[in-house]
Amino acid sequence: MAEPTFRAPKGTRDILPPESGRRRALVDRFADSAALSGFGEVVSPIFEDLGVFKRLGESTDIVTKEMFDFVDKGDPPQHLALRPELTASICRAYAEHRPIPPWKIWYEGPQFRYEQPQAGRYRQFTQVGVEILGADDPQADVDVIALGARFFESLGLRQVTLMVNSLGDESCRPAYMEALTAYLTDRVGDLSAQSQVTLERNPLRVLDSKRDEDQSIIDAAPVMVDFLGGETADHFDAVRSGLDELGIAYEISSRLVRGLDYYTRTTFEFAATALESAQNAVGGGGRYDGLVEDLGGPATPGIGFALGVDRILLACDAEDVFAAPGPSVSVFVVDVTGGSVALDACQRLRAGGIGADRAYGGRSMKAQMKVADRSGAPFAAIVGEDELAAGEVTLRDLRGESGQRRVALDDLVSDVRSLLSN
Ligand code: ATP
Ligand code: MG
Repeated sequence: MAEPTFRAPKGTRDILPPESGRRRALVDRFADSAALSGFGEVVSPIFEDLGVFKRLGESTDIVTKEMFDFVDKGDPPQHLALRPELTASICRAYAEHRPIPPWKIWYEGPQFRYEQPQAGRYRQFTQVGVEILGADDPQADVDVIALGARFFESLGLRQVTLMVNSLGDESCRPAYMEALTAYLTDRVGDLSAQSQVTLERNPLRVLDSKRDEDQSIIDAAPVMVDFLGGETADHFDAVRSGLDELGIAYEISSRLVRGLDYYTRTTFEFAATALESAQNAVGGGGRYDGLVEDLGGPATPGIGFALGVDRILLACDAEDVFAAPGPSVSVFVVDVTGGSVALDACQRLRAGGIGADRAYGGRSMKAQMKVADRSGAPFAAIVGEDELAAGEVTLRDLRGESGQRRVALDDLVSDVRSLLSN
């Protein structure tokens, strides 16, 4: 094959059938489970004012290094950015529309981050997620986490670990930050160059470092859960006992700080242990009680998560679960009499809710049968001169044992329907 003139940009890819069918099935499955829990979908713009995302925190990688931002053609031009995640957009939408809380919403869609592409790490990837705005109750945290955990289970994934932590809030985090900063500053010379820079910006983020040279220092660092005050400690306890009651397995991970600055109190992450550890986070989330206010809205607590669809599908591959859905076409119409019966039969079948397809170009019986076979359809409806004259088709079982028989064109839909329900 000749070199193509253009390729999909670095870090992006085309998702083709049948993989795209699997992706669609996964998103639909998520949509169904979110709807069952009372969440409604929000469809928001793929780009926003850059300022919306700057609220995610000036020390987060997705703001400082990974943003796809641009100025538009306006006068004066507006500085916009492709969204790197959806929580900020949802909070912006909440501040703009002021829906009645609690506002329970779900979303799906592409996100954009200028990252070094690797397996499971792309510049355009898809997330599904939920948010509950306006509920402070720790049981909201439990419901949200449970939705994620049950979703992974429903796909058949068994090797997904849930890690939970509390990051405290403004009442107790300053004391922790002081202790952590003092601890890290004492050891600054032994930290990676990267973490030395991070320490200046946000000491908490040093705990997120994946570099080997930082690990022993991180392992011995003071942990937030030891600094939780009365209310934040109670909240964390309530989240844990809710998870226990529901029988959801989790680990307390005191070093889980997550990549975004806005988190307060509950944070959590799902890791697919069947994947390479650098890209094994299949989802994460937490509380962001200050974000709506930061975006100009009323003080509103929030909790949610985002799951990485591309990585979840890689985890499904690794565990050999959630196969691509079967063929959507049930009947392939092979018409060697010119094609008008194929046109008619396909329309009838589709109108009856039965997937139908056909070949084009008036090809030979043999060529059309080959396409029928490749389509994965369990039945072929064959139209030759005899059938045409009799107003019939020959319905042939392409997969099973039931052979073939002639049926009236008028009975095709009901006959196929009863065959399919057997
Ligand atoms: P990581 O530590 O792997 O960079 P993250 O903490 O940046 O992940 P989040 O911002 O929490 O990720 O996004 C939620 C989920 O979105 C992640 O758990 C992951 O499954 C997915 N995700 C994030 N970045 C990418 C990417 N570049 N390509 C594919 N999926 C991604
Ligand atoms: Mg990241």
